[in-house]
Amino acid sequence: MGTRLDSREAQVDEVLDRLYEEYPDTTISLNFSNRLELLIAVMLSAQCTDERVNKETEHLFEKYETVEDYAEADVDELSEDIGSITYHNSKADYIVSSAQTMRDEHGGEVPDTMDELTDLKGVGRKTANVVLQHGHDVVEGIVVDTHVQRLSRRLGITEEETPEKIETDLMPVVPEEDWQQLTHLFISHGRATCTARNPDCADCVLEDVCPSSKLDHDVDLASGETWD
Ligand code: SF4
Repeated sequence: MGTRLDSREAQVDEVLDRLYEEYPDTTISLNFSNRLELLIAVMLSAQCTDERVNKETEHLFEKYETVEDYAEADVDELSEDIGSITYHNSKADYIVSSAQTMRDEHGGEVPDTMDELTDLKGVGRKTANVVLQHGHDVVEGIVVDTHVQRLSRRLGITEEETPEKIETDLMPVVPEEDWQQLTHLFISHGRATCTARNPDCADCVLEDVCPSSKLDHDVDLASGETWD
């Protein structure tokens, strides 16, 4: 019987407890060995799988090693170098432009504040949050990707719809020490069990506290539509 706990705080606590148990070692799945590589990988990962990004960055990070390398790169050539990535043309443009800003205004370093990061072309709050968390050990917010968006709505933790509003809504009810890990836990569960189209509610560790469980609810609270 999927029933949400009384308060959003209690629901968050319960969900996190169970997911920590289920996915004890979960973390970012993009490969990188420094902040610049992290920024590039996260920029490439928008609307693209981490798996594909990791495949492409294997050779990319050998060819381009510094901010200057990207700042001086030819956009068309870079676009070809990342040819299997979704929206590679615009991403190549964003990367070259961001690298020029880092070279000219940040001494060739990846900035360490939300404002400076989101001033880079093509870098939104989500990308900035990931870079701050994993590149600078600064946790300023919660990374809301498609999995966090879907699961937090399905689990009755938020009714907001956009990533920005969901982040603002979650921050007061999620303990700050869990901000970073919540994202990875929700991504792991979203990939393994609570998938977009066909969640495996019968085999889900959250079933009894989930108000969207297909076993006894008609509506998917993530989309507001009835289950197929
Ligand atoms: S798999 Fe089903 S029961 Fe589990 S969180 Fe997703 S919708 Fe809820």
